[in-house]
Amino acid sequence: MMPATRRLLAATAFALAAALAAAPGWAQTGVNAFKGPITTTAIGGGLYQLSAGSNAVLAVGADGAILIDSLFNDPAKLVASVEAVTPRPVKLLVNTHAHLDHTAGNAIYAGKGARIVSTSLAAGAMQQPFTGGDGTQRPPIDKAGWPTTTYDKVTTLSIPGQSLRFIPVRNAHGEGDAMVFFPKANVLVLGDLHHSHEYPVWDAVTGCKCGSYEGNLQVYRQALKLADARTKIVPGHGGLTNKAEVTAYVAMLERVRGQVKALIARGKSKDEVVAAKLLADDHSPQPGGPDNRDNFIATLYTALQTGVGA
Ligand SMILES: [Zn+2]
Repeated sequence: MMPATRRLLAATAFALAAALAAAPGWAQTGVNAFKGPITTTAIGGGLYQLSAGSNAVLAVGADGAILIDSLFNDPAKLVASVEAVTPRPVKLLVNTHAHLDHTAGNAIYAGKGARIVSTSLAAGAMQQPFTGGDGTQRPPIDKAGWPTTTYDKVTTLSIPGQSLRFIPVRNAHGEGDAMVFFPKANVLVLGDLHHSHEYPVWDAVTGCKCGSYEGNLQVYRQALKLADARTKIVPGHGGLTNKAEVTAYVAMLERVRGQVKALIARGKSKDEVVAAKLLADDHSPQPGGPDNRDNFIATLYTALQTGVGA
């Protein structure tokens, strides 16, 4: 996508990096949406992955549908993509977290009568400006799209024909993250708790500054317990993945953290650690994504050295 722009911005604006890659111009205007097409992939059990920079999931029930996240695109295009799959109304829109590239389409579905659901922390974050790593403030999402129902404990939500487990987690990617598990379809939606085609992105220096590498690792362990070999795992960005791929990715995260810690203990500077190219031979992320490995190492270094975002 836009590796140069990405590299420039992700160094300081990690939580926004994926959205920026997907949304040329957002950095300048604050609000430009992803302009590309929305692709729809059937993943079984009446579930569909909608992808346009970030991912959303549509689950079709007997007389309605559930949408997990709402992309950052022309809302009319999102509606057309949903209607191309089903004429049934979206009754429930569940957000995995507050970031704009997962919530920008909330308002149009609220207007169509969908109940908007998130954790209370994510709902609060949607009502606040988002501070990027460069200090700029992005406005809150459209008030019409703010969640009206919040859950902070594991909760089962159902419509006829579809049932999901909403699983709030803390201090991982950003503020008020949640995973969503569809037991019948055996599909686990991780939101930005996982990026399958790039290295992790978390709110270490942006937004709430409450993201945490260790917190995200703990969520990965929880997710891997929930998943079996046949579980389809939908990341917030990148292609559909599975337990084996995520297990290898998590092993990489643990390995590289140990390596960076050891280099810090030997007095190496951030530039020296980035220059060590610890991920030169790593292929944990799926191919085709933005190359954010240097920014990832730099952010991890800062997090481990300062304790913020570690
Ligand atoms: Zn995010």
